[in-house]
Formats: sequence, C-alpha cells, structure tokens
Amino acid sequence: MTYSRTTKSTKHSPQRSCTVCRAKSDKSDLIRVVRSPDGRAVVDAAKKLPGRGAYICPDSDCIEKAKKSGSLAHSLGVLPNEKFWNELEECAKTFGVNVNLKVRSVLGLSRKSGNLIIGTDNIDREKRKLLVLTASDCSESVRKFADSHENITLEMNIDELSETIGTRGGVQIVGLPINSGFAKKLMSLIKRERGNAV
Ligand SMILES: [Zn+2]
Repeated sequence: MTYSRTTKSTKHSPQRSCTVCRAKSDKSDLIRVVRSPDGRAVVDAAKKLPGRGAYICPDSDCIEKAKKSGSLAHSLGVLPNEKFWNELEECAKTFGVNVNLKVRSVLGLSRKSGNLIIGTDNIDREKRKLLVLTASDCSESVRKFADSHENITLEMNIDELSETIGTRGGVQIVGLPINSGFAKKLMSLIKRERGNAV
C-alpha cells in the first residue's frame, strides 16, 4: 500500500524561520548571519560561526525588506554595514545557482523511492492530485495536458530531465503527489529560484 509509505522526504530536518518573512524552511535552505564576537554583522556561509545568529531567505525580496525594516539589525542587535549587504546579496545569488542542483536531486530521489509518475498516460491514470513538471522544450500537446494540472515548467530540457531521473530519454512530463514531501520541497525550491531571478 504505497499511500501510507514513509518516504525519505518526511525525515526530520532542522527548520528555521526567516527573520524577515517568518517563513519556516530547512536550515540548509536559509542563509545564516551572525553578530561576531567583535560586534559586526557577518554572513555565515558555512553556518559555523559563533555568536548571536539569525536566518534569512536567500531571496532579494527578503534582503530588501531586511534593509528597509531593520528587522535583521534588530535580530542581530547591530547595524550591518554596506559590505555585509553586498556579501548577503552575493550569497543569495550562489543559492540560486544551487537550486537547480537541488531540484535535480529531489527529482532523482523521488524516482528512486517510486513516487515519480512519468508520462501523460500514467499521470492521467493517477487518482491522487498531482504536481506536474514539464521539460522546458516539451511539445504543445504535453504543455496543454500539463495546464489541466497544477504545473511548473522546469529549467531543464527533455534530455536533462530524462538524465536526472535516470531513464533512457524522451521524458517530457513527470508528476508527484501534491501532498508528498517531494512536491512540497520542489515547490518551495522553485518558488525561491524564480523569486531570485526577478
Ligand atoms: Zn524570508
């Protein structure tokens, strides 16, 4: 009975709240900032520095708001300087690059765990509500099919998608149960990536 199966995605990972928007995310998906022992605001890329810390989404929206509202300064108890903001923006950009790798890894894991539904026929047969993901170069008819579901266009083409999920090729569309941890993870990753692109 696959419905009740526990997947890897449900395993506990430490959650933290963004100090600006308060949204909870995996610690690994947020940037840590600290007030260093000598009283400066520092971007803690490795998440290892000692000191009073806070977390922020790697997205330009939250960084802009942090600048304007002073919420980050408040969390750290120190006013960040210009260099800090530049570092934070650089760090957020790096996160954006890594997102596509993470998306690939989630897709690969969901395939291995048997949660990934491949192709329009299988998606059509599925009774559960699905999040549907299409290759960037999928056909017109697949695009139309996808539009009848909640769907996201991936930033990878058919060859890349096929390779990511370890099939021979020609995969234009995949689906994941919308309530699965995999789908939720993908949605939050992609939302963040698209936010960064703006
Ligand atoms: Zn945030």
